[in-house]
Amino acid sequence: MLVNQVRLGRLRRDEVCDAHPELIRAARNVGTETETDCPICEESRLRLVTYVFGHRLPAHGRCVSTARELRQLSATGRDLRAYVVEACTECRWHHLLRVLPL
Ligand SMILES: [Zn+2]
Repeated sequence: MLVNQVRLGRLRRDEVCDAHPELIRAARNVGTETETDCPICEESRLRLVTYVFGHRLPAHGRCVSTARELRQLSATGRDLRAYVVEACTECRWHHLLRVLPL
């Protein structure tokens, strides 16, 4: 819906493309490239970044870049949740794709 609002000119691009610089850095350095073009700028492929939140993790979550790291966190048996965010390093569009319990 947000994407449509931008296409229709009801929302400005800079109102939706406001990803935190840290998220963009993570997307660029450790993000997983997808086959999906950015719906806003259509100039770059979206990248996925996973943050894990829960007991004994930093309040801003831990950025997880490998499946191994995710398995290790999962093996702790703690109540953790993974937030998968898609981000565009070109225009800074970002969107919470899914939340998964570990
Ligand atoms: Zn973009």
